[in-house]
Amino acid sequence: MSAHQRRQDLTDEQSVVLNKAAFVVISARQEGAAMLRESSVDLPDGWFSSPCAECACSDYAGDGGACTNNVVGPEGGSSGPCGHASSDHLGS
Ligand SMILES: [Zn+2]
Ligand SMILES: [Zn+2]
Repeated sequence: MSAHQRRQDLTDEQSVVLNKAAFVVISARQEGAAMLRESSVDLPDGWFSSPCAECACSDYAGDGGACTNNVVGPEGGSSGPCGHASSDHLGS
């Protein structure tokens, strides 16, 4: 079941909680990644990234709302911000 399908069962209130919870998880991943970077430790594959399930965005950027990360298109040019919710960035 994808994150998208799961979300449709939720009330608006539950969706807000889901996005808040997702942001907590993503923030913890980013904190962990920063910690390793400071010590020049190579990041273990897949542990600390939060790619978007809806588009090509490779990591979440923002403050808990819509993602502000610029998505790089297939040609290498930017196709604009991701704009998806934090709950779309929980990875698989
Ligand atoms: Zn996205
Ligand atoms: Zn994104």
